[in-house]
Amino acid sequence: MELIKQEVSQERWIPIPEEVREIYRLWRPTPLYRAVRLEKALKTPAKIYYKWEGVSPPGSHKPNTAVAQAYYNMEEGVARMATETGAGQWGSALAFGTCLFGLDCTIYMVRVSYEQKPYRRILMETWGAECIPSPSKRTKFGKVMLKKDPKCPGSLGIAISEAIEDAVTHEDTKYSLGSVLNHVLLHQTVVGLECKKQFEMAGDYPDVMFGCVGGGSNFAGACFPFIGDKLTGEKPDLRVVSCEPKACPTLTKAPYAYDFGDTAKTTPLLKMYTLGHEFIPPPIHAGGLRYHGDAPLLCKLTKEGVMEAVAFHQTEVFKAAITFARTEGIVVAPETAHCVKAVIDEALRCKKTGKKKTIFFANSGHGHFDLGAYDAYLAKKLVDYEYPAKSVKKALAKLPKVKPKIE
Ligand SMILES: *Cc1c(COP(=O)(O)O)cnc(C)c1O
Repeated sequence: MELIKQEVSQERWIPIPEEVREIYRLWRPTPLYRAVRLEKALKTPAKIYYKWEGVSPPGSHKPNTAVAQAYYNMEEGVARMATETGAGQWGSALAFGTCLFGLDCTIYMVRVSYEQKPYRRILMETWGAECIPSPSKRTKFGKVMLKKDPKCPGSLGIAISEAIEDAVTHEDTKYSLGSVLNHVLLHQTVVGLECKKQFEMAGDYPDVMFGCVGGGSNFAGACFPFIGDKLTGEKPDLRVVSCEPKACPTLTKAPYAYDFGDTAKTTPLLKMYTLGHEFIPPPIHAGGLRYHGDAPLLCKLTKEGVMEAVAFHQTEVFKAAITFARTEGIVVAPETAHCVKAVIDEALRCKKTGKKKTIFFANSGHGHFDLGAYDAYLAKKLVDYEYPAKSVKKALAKLPKVKPKIE
């Protein structure tokens, strides 16, 4: 209930409970780094900063909301949380959060990932969660899918449907979402709020900010507190740029419409840029960016022109990630690599024009469980996927037909 209240809150500030702050202290505040070695390698006059969320135990920004969600559920007497996970980043964050508050956790993991990427599953199990390959025999929906195809590889849509069914059929269990919704974005603003203080300490302020967008939570967390300064007119020239894959180009190509957040059409309708709830993106390595929609708040800001959006192919993205690893040392997640690419492009533009801009990017997590993707890139086996126009067209035909009373 507290999370639902936060979802629709009109408050300016919502305090972080002391119990949550105590856990955040395990890795927060996260460092704001100046990428001096990258600047030197690019010979750019620009200054490049990044906020590093990879220092959290699960290795990304995701525990910022997982810990908060587990806390409010524990407070309200919930015994178990259920969720879905693709490659396992969200699942491992919630396993970590529930573990620290003594809750049980059931995670439906897309079967192909469960079989191909065992390490995140092992992490979830190490933190005491139960990880089930989806589709499973645990739910009615899973059984239907398995009857149709006993070898069904699963999808995020199916896994969401199983997790929701599990929650609604068990009194003591609640469903949890790791991105897109307002309360998730709210929890992530701890990143941007810390970052503003760190920029103050450095005596600097960004001219342009970059972040990768899957559902929008790490981007919003890092950038929304700064966008506040732009909206109040304090920093009117601040540019904020979201980065996404060309294979799943929500903010750069999709229509702005009402759609479901999940494939099984169980969520309320959300107004967002959407490729259609039935759209299944090509199998790019940045699994966390393969979502058909984006956070409604972020979509609204894009629609209003407060933010910009760019899209990249995965080979150019990995090339940028390698440059970053060989200068700054950090091996970033394939998702994060999308904004690293945008940052390098911007820094090189500064080199041409001689502009001494201050560039920032949200470094959302490490790629230590994604080395298979780096291996494929280094072996020159990585392929780019063109914009899947046909399947997008097919999925867009399935958008719900609604006439909203309020625009
Ligand atoms: C999940 C994930 C993302 C994408 O999710 P958002 O909600 O858009 O932030 C980006 N980076 C990393 C490291 C992730 O784990």
